[in-house]
Amino acid sequence: MNKPIKDLSPKEFEQWIQSKGQPLYRRNQIERWIYKKDISSFLDMSNLPKSLRESLAAYFSYFSLKKIKKETTSDGIVKFLFETLDEEHVESVLIPDRDRTTLCVSTQIGCRMGCNFCLTGIQGFKRNLSRSEILDQVLLVRKWMREDGKKLTNVVFMGMGEPLDNYDHSLAALKALVSSEGAGMSHRKVTLSTVGLIPQIKRLAQEGLDLTLAVSVNATDNKTRNRIMPINRRYPLEKLMATLREYPLPSRKRFTLEYVLLKDINHSKEDALRLAKLTKGLRIKVNLIPYNTFPGTCYASPSERDILTFQAMLRQKGISTFIRRSRGQEISAACGMLRWREAE
Ligand code: SAH
Ligand code: SF4
Repeated sequence: MNKPIKDLSPKEFEQWIQSKGQPLYRRNQIERWIYKKDISSFLDMSNLPKSLRESLAAYFSYFSLKKIKKETTSDGIVKFLFETLDEEHVESVLIPDRDRTTLCVSTQIGCRMGCNFCLTGIQGFKRNLSRSEILDQVLLVRKWMREDGKKLTNVVFMGMGEPLDNYDHSLAALKALVSSEGAGMSHRKVTLSTVGLIPQIKRLAQEGLDLTLAVSVNATDNKTRNRIMPINRRYPLEKLMATLREYPLPSRKRFTLEYVLLKDINHSKEDALRLAKLTKGLRIKVNLIPYNTFPGTCYASPSERDILTFQAMLRQKGISTFIRRSRGQEISAACGMLRWREAE
């Protein structure tokens, strides 16, 4: 199995180019093709000598993923199923909106965090995705869209897995997306969503990236959060909020707090008051996500009236609060519905 080219470190890449007796500027030429041009294979790199193109094709694989299935809902959500070189499966979801089109990418096959309301979490963990496997979800979908005359505008690291539990590969992929030598996307168009891994959030704070950080809060007291998100026992709510307070948030930005609404569990008046207290002084917006059910789950979404009431209570406390209605339930493409093996 050939190594995917996007998994080479800069040093390995240069050594390989030198071993072929080629000048080092070839690396920039090749990377320009990879990140900016939406081609399908090394053979399309028309400004390289034919022998070099053939060597590249003999040594490396151009894509680390193969698109094997695409499903579309009536309202335009597209779910992509990709196969990795070792025949595992990865899902990504494309969400068109009025003025933007967002791709939700996966960072792991499964997830180790074990949140018990999440299908990915319930299914357990298989492995981390590599840098190339994370990037190729974006590059393959961008290519497909371009061929269709459309433009991918935003990327969210919010699919299967916990991106900060696969820190090195998630960050390497993210940097390739936003760097000018890479895909050249604006930092502001990229969001990373985390369950709240404190040491990794601190590390991320040092990276100097201007991305949007989303944190899945989902409960306002430790007892409830421990029950639905085991990671809270290690990184409880107060410490998580203290970490956000120390994060060097650019002045025009705010954190996104995600809050999955679970019927009778986390949307009382006390929850609204506690959330306001916990986040006092933090620049945030809250996205309320009505729960998406799947067979076997013991959770449900609150009624429409209760959802609106909770939103109103938070707004009354001065918190910008939005309801994020997941589309795509009909093809299991909504938040928390991605899977990597058939549900038992
Ligand atoms: N691991 C990261 C990112 C992937 S999960 C994280 O937890 O933030 C993305 C979002 O989906 C999280 O906010 C999570 O709380 C939410 N989610 C998980 N299962 C869900 C479900 N069944 N219905 C609605 N949202 C869900
Ligand atoms: Fe993992 Fe996020 Fe699902 Fe929790 S909600 S199990 S962290 S994917």
